[in-house]
Amino acid sequence: MEKNNFIQLATPAIQKLQPYLPGKPISELERELGLQEIVKLASNENPLGTSPKVQTVIRDNLGELTRYPDGNGFELKRALAEKLDVDTAQITLGNGSNDVLDLIARTFLSAELEAVFSEYAFAVYPISTQAVGAKGIVSPAGSGGSWMRYGHDLDAMLGSISEKTRLVFIANPNNPTGTWFGREQLESFLDAVSSQVIVVVDEAYFEYVDDPNYPDASSYLEQYPNLIVTRTFSKAYGLAALRVGYSLSSAEIADLLNRVRQPFNVNSLALLAAETALNDRAYLEKTKKENRQGVQQLTEALQQQGFYPIPSAGNFICVDIGKPAIPVHEELLKKGVIVRPVANYGLPNHLRISVGSKNENTFFIKAMAGIA
Ligand SMILES: *Cc1c(COP(=O)(O)O)cnc(C)c1O
Repeated sequence: MEKNNFIQLATPAIQKLQPYLPGKPISELERELGLQEIVKLASNENPLGTSPKVQTVIRDNLGELTRYPDGNGFELKRALAEKLDVDTAQITLGNGSNDVLDLIARTFLSAELEAVFSEYAFAVYPISTQAVGAKGIVSPAGSGGSWMRYGHDLDAMLGSISEKTRLVFIANPNNPTGTWFGREQLESFLDAVSSQVIVVVDEAYFEYVDDPNYPDASSYLEQYPNLIVTRTFSKAYGLAALRVGYSLSSAEIADLLNRVRQPFNVNSLALLAAETALNDRAYLEKTKKENRQGVQQLTEALQQQGFYPIPSAGNFICVDIGKPAIPVHEELLKKGVIVRPVANYGLPNHLRISVGSKNENTFFIKAMAGIA
């Protein structure tokens, strides 16, 4: 029988698409190497584990899984609206914020249009853009000797916008670099961008940032109706497995996203867990405190080993190890440590290490000392 060449049947855009590379799951490394002790610091997950309050609400609702979830997420939206001082009509829930980023791309992009994002920015922006056949325009990162050479250059991004640009993706803080920009920069960017261009500010690490100059992009929604802010419960709220995120926008944009959204894109347990997590202030405070300590622990230890991490506003650090990072990553795997090489982001000598618990960080530091 003739062998089918299905790739030719896929759309031209999909033929060229590179899939997202996730952090290696612990179970996979266990299968491959039969290791006893494995520490995963590769997906910016919360090292505290599931909060007891979330565990309780999930256990208490296991009997309801025969029912479809509330497709409008009424209770979670109400809780978010109250906490964030927005109208429920401005909220779009997603199966992770990744889902919302995808909805935005499907709503606003098509083959003849472009989306602008920065060099070293989050890998989902090019994927969501290309998946709908649109063109991704990579804008150069900052320049000069400072750490901003890894961060977004919003002026350069302005310059990358053309008549074909319908979307701009901005991550603040950015993953994988941990860089961020301040209030003034966001304000002048939003002022300068045409109101016909949708600006997405991805705030996946919003909860971790305490600097008074860090802009809460949602406070600009009224002034700039072309703005969309995305957030997630996967990181600081510790619900990565459940997949729940959201966007804040004008009600008009939320209505458009809702037309594309799968009717039941967020499952019942995720809705309940997110609502519970939102009100679990102790968990969030503990998360932030331990993260600050972990960033410091990892930064100091790496500096002692001669490496200088990019100052990070998130729950991970990104560090130039002065040589190709993929082989070092392989060596770390053999020692039971999973981190993330970021060569696919154009940073071949950098490793991204998620902040773990104190013991997990120590395990990594020891493994690293034996290699690099
Ligand atoms: C982790 C991450 C997300 C999405 O995470 P979800 O689990 O899909 O909510 C979005 N943006 C950035 C920059 C991230 O690092």
